[in-house]
Amino acid sequence: MTAPQKKLYGIIGHPLGHTMSPALHNSGFNMFSLQSVYMAFPTPPEKLAEFMESFRTLPMYGASVTIPHKETVMEYVDTITPRAEKVGAVNTLYWKDDAIVGDNTDVLGFMAPLKDKKKTLKKALVLGAGGAAKAVLAGLQELGISNITICNRTAQRAENLATQFNIDAVAWENRGSVDADLVINTTPMGMSGEHVDATPFTAEMFQEHGTAYDLVYNPLETTFLRTAKEAGWETIDGLHMFAAQGAEQFKLWTGKNIPHEHIRKLVSNLLSL
Ligand code: NAP
Repeated sequence: MTAPQKKLYGIIGHPLGHTMSPALHNSGFNMFSLQSVYMAFPTPPEKLAEFMESFRTLPMYGASVTIPHKETVMEYVDTITPRAEKVGAVNTLYWKDDAIVGDNTDVLGFMAPLKDKKKTLKKALVLGAGGAAKAVLAGLQELGISNITICNRTAQRAENLATQFNIDAVAWENRGSVDADLVINTTPMGMSGEHVDATPFTAEMFQEHGTAYDLVYNPLETTFLRTAKEAGWETIDGLHMFAAQGAEQFKLWTGKNIPHEHIRKLVSNLLSL
């Protein structure tokens, strides 16, 4: 008797570093007793075409896509969802009949912790203008928040996104004077390692009251979020987005829902090791 063949899933990126995605998805497969496995596939840019060929020929049922492939992978898929089209980036691959679909679950992941607050949030300030910022902007607009300002260390990138999303851009040095009740950090400032003490928004920049949302989730409480809390602001850590975008991927692949709380506990435990 032969062992049943497992369905194969994975993540491509370069460098992949210590990604939490295999733990997340393998835990989900285990939770629902699915004969599937999710692996890390470190893939330098020159190997992307080869990987996509394997995706079509091996028993691969889905993949997560991260830096630097989120944009370049779009030329290898058969269909792009409207959400991925709007962002201009794909973070999830799955099959629909005989077509490889490129989707973007970062948008839903970003929106998840804001759903209950959207009526009270009117003015958003986005710090940073890289790949994650595009998913954030698409999410804010999908939530109906129309007053959005972006700023970035390199002004031109903020101006490009301001044009793409029809929003305002301000100079990085003027970010503290923007009137906003939602401030989102999409830069790696505050991430464990050399940037851990850095913050894109200092104490005197927090005006009145609002919500500070950090995309960084290692550490869970960044300098940005600690400073916001001290200023009386509500905070949302990046693990909410990570858990929600991963749960959305899992649902696209299997039709099943991993509770976000399960993912939070799993990743928090791994981060504290
Ligand atoms: P990216 O495309 O490389 O963009 C990075 C952005 O941060 C750029 O706008 C860059 O400005 C800015 N930046 C970098 N270092 C800076 C510094 N020292 N001071 C000021 N600005 C700085 O990266 P990304 O894909 O957007 O990811 C950004 C962060 O979001 C990462 O920490 C990533 O882990 C996190 N993220 C989290 C989730 C989640 O699920 N929670 C999902 C996606 C991303 P310049 O243009 O001037 O270089």
